[in-house]
Amino acid sequence: MLVNLISDTVTQPSEGMLEAMFSAQVGDDVFKEDPAVNAFEEEVSTLFGKEAALFFPSGTMANQTAIKLHTQPGEQLICDHYAHVYNYEGGGVSFNSGVSCKLIQGERGKITAQQIEASINPPDFYHSPKTSLVCLENTTNKGGGAVYDIETIKSINHLCGQKGLALHLDGARLWNALEVTGEDPKLYGALFDTLSLCFSKGLGCPIGSVLVGSKLQMQEALRIRKVFGGGMRQAGYLAAAGSYALKHHRKDLKLDHQKAQEIAAVLNTCSFVEEVQPVETNILIFSLKQGLDEAAFIQKLKENNILIIGLGKGKLRMVTHRDYTAEHHHYLLTTLSKMEEYA
Ligand SMILES: *Cc1c(COP(=O)(O)O)cnc(C)c1O
Repeated sequence: MLVNLISDTVTQPSEGMLEAMFSAQVGDDVFKEDPAVNAFEEEVSTLFGKEAALFFPSGTMANQTAIKLHTQPGEQLICDHYAHVYNYEGGGVSFNSGVSCKLIQGERGKITAQQIEASINPPDFYHSPKTSLVCLENTTNKGGGAVYDIETIKSINHLCGQKGLALHLDGARLWNALEVTGEDPKLYGALFDTLSLCFSKGLGCPIGSVLVGSKLQMQEALRIRKVFGGGMRQAGYLAAAGSYALKHHRKDLKLDHQKAQEIAAVLNTCSFVEEVQPVETNILIFSLKQGLDEAAFIQKLKENNILIIGLGKGKLRMVTHRDYTAEHHHYLLTTLSKMEEYA
């Protein structure tokens, strides 16, 4: 038995998903002639109450396309200093769009309208880069799966409207946030110009992200995706997986959240643990008591067939997912309890 908690991207497609993929009706999506892709894009745009959607091979490409869509070279976007678009997209913001990032020290990856307002460069002060875009992330990745309060987003949406800034959501794990809050995706569709959504995280697809926005924006996004090399041919096999996940996997996210809570509860009783950050969804970040070596701890777990990752600066991370079974869960909790001698 191997318990892999390094990310929620390690899942294998379920049997039902594979069957849905096998039976997909496909065509050449570069000519927009793949019925499964077209149906999936419509399904997602309808879910969010947006005009159009576009299927992408990765969340990174969906985010990078959105950033290119909303900016001109030399301009600046505003995001939290933990943001995926800033930290984990290979410097794409500057490489692809010629844009810089104004970073905000938010709370667990979340920022407020006041913080954003203070970070906007004066529009007529031509010495500084022109601020044109705000990027939020929900749930936050480096922030430990934290969920935005909808009121915060509403005030950010209001500010962006006032200041003429575009607002993009990196919603790689928005499904997890929606599971916790029970909010209607349409509410999110109404508050953001564009949203990216991952299907290869908690929803368990092998690949795939979707960008939603207006019809005009998605026409332009199609061109940008082409430039980025993201045109796909019979991608309907992959879109069929996404469509299946929406219908059959989405409801299971609450199990991932429950298990993360239960792991946190056990870690909180372990003498070798210094702090467990609040667990809101499926990401759990914790630290060891001073003097304990993270690398040795990770190695010790590995010897017990449990994989987790270190985030640096003394932080360790576990991410629950649909292939982390009840049996894995039981084994992990017992192993952690038995690691007392480690301290
Ligand atoms: C995973 C993730 C992405 C996209 O990652 P890809 O590996 O390119 O699909 C984007 N934003 C956040 C917050 C993520 O966690």
